[in-house]
Amino acid sequence: MSKKKVYVIMDRQEERHDQPWSSYHIETSKRLDVIYERLKESGLFDDTRIEHLPRREATEKEIQSVHTERYVEDVKSTETMNADQQEAFCSKYEDIFVNSATWKRAKLAAGSAIDLVTAVAINRIPGIAFIRPPGHHAMPDEGCGFCIFNNVAIAAKEALRCGFAKKVMIVDYDVHAANGTQECIESMGDNVRLISIHRYENGTFWPNMPQTGIYHNYNNTMNLPLNTTGLTDSDYCALFSHVIIPSIQSFKPDLIIVSSGFDASLGDPEGYMNVTPAGFATMIRMMMNTGIPVAAVLEGGYFLEALAADSEWVLKALLGEQIPQINPEPINPAIADTISRVLSKYEETSFFRKVQELRKLIGQSPIEDDVKQTDYKGERTVHAPYDTRGIYTPFADEKVNKFKDLLRSLLQSYETIEKPDIPCVFKYVNTDENFLDVQDGQLLIGSGKAVKLFVELLFISALDPQFVSDSFLDVKDTDFDSIRFGDGLQSLGSIPTFKNFPLLQL
Ligand SMILES: [Zn+2]
Repeated sequence: MSKKKVYVIMDRQEERHDQPWSSYHIETSKRLDVIYERLKESGLFDDTRIEHLPRREATEKEIQSVHTERYVEDVKSTETMNADQQEAFCSKYEDIFVNSATWKRAKLAAGSAIDLVTAVAINRIPGIAFIRPPGHHAMPDEGCGFCIFNNVAIAAKEALRCGFAKKVMIVDYDVHAANGTQECIESMGDNVRLISIHRYENGTFWPNMPQTGIYHNYNNTMNLPLNTTGLTDSDYCALFSHVIIPSIQSFKPDLIIVSSGFDASLGDPEGYMNVTPAGFATMIRMMMNTGIPVAAVLEGGYFLEALAADSEWVLKALLGEQIPQINPEPINPAIADTISRVLSKYEETSFFRKVQELRKLIGQSPIEDDVKQTDYKGERTVHAPYDTRGIYTPFADEKVNKFKDLLRSLLQSYETIEKPDIPCVFKYVNTDENFLDVQDGQLLIGSGKAVKLFVELLFISALDPQFVSDSFLDVKDTDFDSIRFGDGLQSLGSIPTFKNFPLLQL
């Protein structure tokens, strides 16, 4: 019998949580339908390597570990309301909808997140839960942005309470800020940390909250705010290489929970980003390569074709299958700016200290952020009663069709993933101090301190940790023969940060 490799929870939505009072909304029950259909068609759903976990409703006690009793009772009361009452209820909270199925579906989403995270933490097998309503905007005392209960915060709290994990890192790559998770975990102390990548545009993008910038007073949240749109796989992977993976290495959690929203996908009407299925799969793979169990929980994602394809490839990444290489592209200057500011704020961690040290060694001044506190130029003008209608309009058909064509051709290109001929190897050469070169897919390095530090940072940030140890720099020159990058399937050119290391201006 084949060994189970991945846990999956798929909510089949017997009762449907959908907005009852308007004809168009982007967060619909179709989202889970398209994921299910894609996984069925591709055969993944019935793959014997997958263990399907049953769904479960969270208890009120579990939900109240994060949310107030008042708010939980308030949501509960919607089950028996008529549509007019439900709409009036929703005007108390920013951009949510409820119907008579919501109470049950929200409990199922939270309970499923708890059970997935528990199974992943105990058995150290990765997993993903395809659930809705999403959770990462939900705050302790209020729903927000389609989110009723904060599924990942509740799951993290339960994992800690039950002793299934001692330290939990939540990584949120949904295109929107994890403002709710940020608030829900604030009181949990330093055993939980959140890193959120999101559209920010200096605070002019929703939710327009100053707390979603780099500078805020939430001690266990690190924000990676993006001040521009159109960002690519390479940009997102640079954030993982330079900030997220090193932060995971520094924090040493025993569990990673991913708020896996797919609205940074190309073609998404909310994100305006260009992340591909290969990009999402690569981010997941980079986190898996830390050796820490990964539990992914669905958040947003509104371009249905991309949502289905992203889900499929993230699941393949979780299964350990070979994933398509991302297209290496020059990194957007806005990413370098975000990374520099974040490094400046968090320079006490070893990775960030090493970057500073390296800059000095190669004659560059240390990163200093002289614009602290001034990155927020937004304004938050909304207040109750909130609008409940006409908030979303679909893209024009022509635009949607263009994105569908683009996605289709990308997915076709994935059908023939070939292993690169030349495995990417690292080779020590006994030559000039800070010699660094690439030849035939090999990274050649000299014996200088700066170049060693640079390579060490690259290894920490981008590569399989089994090759990285504290003694990396102590290895005798002659002992260094060759090292395979990652799982040996990547070529140097596929690591976009190598040629575009934004911190060092090489
Ligand atoms: Zn989102």
